[in-house]
Amino acid sequence: MTLGARLSAIDEQIADAARAAGRDPGEITRIVVTKFHPASLVRELHALGVREVGENRQQELTAKRALLREGREPALDELRWHFIGQAQTNKAAAIRRDADVVHSVDRERLADALHRAADDPDVLDVLVQVNLTEDQGRGGTSAADAERLAEHVLGLDTLRLRGVMAVAPLDEEPAAAFARLRAVSDGVLRLAPDATWISAGMTGDFVEAIDAGATHLRIGSAITGPRPDRG
Ligand SMILES: *Cc1c(COP(=O)(O)O)cnc(C)c1O
Repeated sequence: MTLGARLSAIDEQIADAARAAGRDPGEITRIVVTKFHPASLVRELHALGVREVGENRQQELTAKRALLREGREPALDELRWHFIGQAQTNKAAAIRRDADVVHSVDRERLADALHRAADDPDVLDVLVQVNLTEDQGRGGTSAADAERLAEHVLGLDTLRLRGVMAVAPLDEEPAAAFARLRAVSDGVLRLAPDATWISAGMTGDFVEAIDAGATHLRIGSAITGPRPDRG
């Protein structure tokens, strides 16, 4: 199957799942995760109409954006780059420069570092990442601490809180995990009625995520094919 065929097949499945859940497919944003793939794939995706792409490592994000800028193709400015990986605080300035949205704000220190890195009047869209596992080593703040972190972000005027993000645990039914994320989202919405985004759902669980109210899906391999070795 070609890239375009895989993209349309997934978009059809997204639309079907949305309708089955009684939702409008138009309220769901599909982000194509391009990590480990070359910048040329991003260009191909753009030609197919993709406008939202996701990367999980700062160096790779920065390198791809630099490479694509060299081509001087103004149309590529239409792309919105979503940073979805665990972020080191000392990379915050580079992430802020190269990403349009950061999904993985999981601690106050990172929010503060992104805030301090602001060097223009632009406001950066961010989501609070919630860890749905028991393993504290995984990215994300605990569900219990998510509202506190959301409040902290709301106090930083160069960041705009858009909602919450999570990855489903490997050892649990995704539906149950996404229901907890939905509850966290409801709590955050009481603090920030505009923070309506729920970033959830990957290749293996986007249907369950749509059922649970996800607004932003992060889909990689089902669209791009298997990832090349990270080397
Ligand atoms: C890689 C990645 C995805 C996409 O994963 P697939 O299973 O390839 O769809 C989504 N979210 C995050 C945080 C990722 O790191």
